[in-house]
Amino acid sequence: MYPAKADTDRRKKYMTKYLITGGAGFIGSHLAEALLARGDEVWVVDDLSTGSIVNIDPLRGHARFHYTIDTIMNLPLMAELIDRVDGVFHLAAAVGVKLIFDHPVETIQTNIRGTEIVLDLASRKRRKVQITSSSEVYGKGIKAPFAEDDDLLLGPTTCPRWAYACSKAIDEFLALAYWKENGMPTVVTRFFNTVGPRQTGMYGMVIPRFVGQALAGEPLTVFGDGSQRRCFVHVADVVRAVIALMENDAANGQVFNIGNTEEISILDLARRVIELSGSRSEIRLVPFAEAYGGDFEDLNRRVPDVTRLAALVDWNRLIPLDDTIRSVIGFLRRA
Ligand code: UDP
Repeated sequence: MYPAKADTDRRKKYMTKYLITGGAGFIGSHLAEALLARGDEVWVVDDLSTGSIVNIDPLRGHARFHYTIDTIMNLPLMAELIDRVDGVFHLAAAVGVKLIFDHPVETIQTNIRGTEIVLDLASRKRRKVQITSSSEVYGKGIKAPFAEDDDLLLGPTTCPRWAYACSKAIDEFLALAYWKENGMPTVVTRFFNTVGPRQTGMYGMVIPRFVGQALAGEPLTVFGDGSQRRCFVHVADVVRAVIALMENDAANGQVFNIGNTEEISILDLARRVIELSGSRSEIRLVPFAEAYGGDFEDLNRRVPDVTRLAALVDWNRLIPLDDTIRSVIGFLRRA
């Protein structure tokens, strides 16, 4: 899935040893696979809270792949791992709207304390760090598309959804502060609805949930009236972007949206999933209050402005949504 990079001479000038926190997760495991395919050496740390050992099973015998099942709060371990590598992709985080609702304390602690540890240790060794943030930080802004320098519009502290957004915003402030204060190379990436094989619907992500429901012949649960819109990007495109930003010094000290600009309503998405999977499932509209509880606020529309990303990364030919959905159908059929 990940072609080896043609321009190997250019790449040799850059880093070849990477630590991926959260490397047994959905995106982290794809990133590990892509780096190994290019000839890099990869260390993974993951506590398997939302990640899964199954995700890295195919990589475990690889001579350039190393993994530790532990928390990123383990300071001596993190010091050792960061010392070994040239750069860190920090993906470990509490993710998924459902998890955030069920475990708000853990969400805040993991996202803020974990990032502090990574940045502090990396600054001592002057390692480049890419901090993974989220389109959630834009909050409920009604502007479309969202550009990186836009104001953030978060809801009240009584709604746990915003704790996640706020914790990610703190991570961003901290990463940019390290860059400004002592020139430590940091990059912030804001992922927009990323999808692909190995993503689980367990934590609320809509495409694997719909595909799972369609394959089981169950009704597809569309929350609200399904008019809310999202842009879905295939994980392979996201991985391509984060690697390119890690290798490019021009990215340092900047924030980048990573996402697709093609929009679809959730109702239409449900219809696409039914069609592409050949399912006989029906669509069931579920009120938000029933799906998430009373204090939930959903976002009507979320589109990334990718101008800044496209200046550094080829972003013209993304994997089409139908292929992305098919890749999830294929994965869940085999699972
Ligand atoms: N959604 C849905 N049914 C589900 C899960 C999610 O209709 O079973 C909706 C959800 O309310 C949101 C959209 O799909 O409007 C995307 O949800 P997801 O949790 O994947 O991402 P996010 O809310 O972070 O964009």
